Amino acid sequence: MADKPVIDRRTLLVGGGLAVTALGTALTVPAGTAAAHPRPVEAPNIYDTTAWGARPPREPITLLNHKPTYIVVHHTVEPGNSEDYSLEHAFAISRSIQDFHMDSNGWIDTGQQFTISRGGYITEGRHRSLEALRGGTQHVLGANVADHNSEIIGIENEGLYMEVDVPQTLWDSLVALVAYMASQYDISPDLIRGHRDFNSTACPGDVLYARLPELRQAVADRLGVTFREPEPTPLLRPGDTGDDVRLAQRRLRARGYDVTVDGVFGDKTRDAVAAFAASNGLGEPTCQACARSDERGYLGIDVWERLAPR
Ligand SMILES: [Zn+2]
Repeated sequence: MADKPVIDRRTLLVGGGLAVTALGTALTVPAGTAAAHPRPVEAPNIYDTTAWGARPPREPITLLNHKPTYIVVHHTVEPGNSEDYSLEHAFAISRSIQDFHMDSNGWIDTGQQFTISRGGYITEGRHRSLEALRGGTQHVLGANVADHNSEIIGIENEGLYMEVDVPQTLWDSLVALVAYMASQYDISPDLIRGHRDFNSTACPGDVLYARLPELRQAVADRLGVTFREPEPTPLLRPGDTGDDVRLAQRRLRARGYDVTVDGVFGDKTRDAVAAFAASNGLGEPTCQACARSDERGYLGIDVWERLAPR
């Protein structure tokens, strides 16, 4: 992490938007734009809120009259990595997430727009998300990425992917759903992101996050488009060491926080980051994983932008 513009190490800009990749292939792809109009992608099988027995939303759903900019991938953390791959289990976790979001978080409905079970079953999360996706011109305002909900459409993937990989059944459905979303909303594959690209969270887990380049490529192949791979977003956590931690500590000290500049992300640094985030109005990130994990004091992109503004 550096307090200057991040340079894409894999791509050298030659000028005029011409990019030469590490493999020497020339691509004329402006950032964030598909090279060609994407191919239509067939809709995967998606079970709507009626199928899994959702409760009605507490208030009317907000339909935004624009497309989402980003597709965001999450992991649920709870109920862990279940070996129940059945459709009934997929419905059960959809109900349990909705109960948690409505009863514990006090939200009007499920936070995310879609959910994928480890068995690969795709369910609608917040009501009307499926109708909006099929229409391709509007999207449902959800609650899963703090400060960015009007720009994003989010997918909760059942499980905890910090150390282990997703099952193939889940992966196949994730590719199918994201490709369909990208096709319906004309979203370039470089705008397929993980939750940690926006908030200070480990979501969607280190392993699943590391597979996002593969997801983007798989979606690009289905759409028949090219794209420029975005840089991964750095995330500093308690226990981390090194120059990036030292830089963060210097920035915190300069703002009056009592931390030692020793390059070790310990308890005092964690307290300082948490206090700094709170003083900047950065609440707890709001997805299922964040609610179930202790990520207090994580230093991600949103904190960093305020700690070291360019
Ligand atoms: Zn998340």
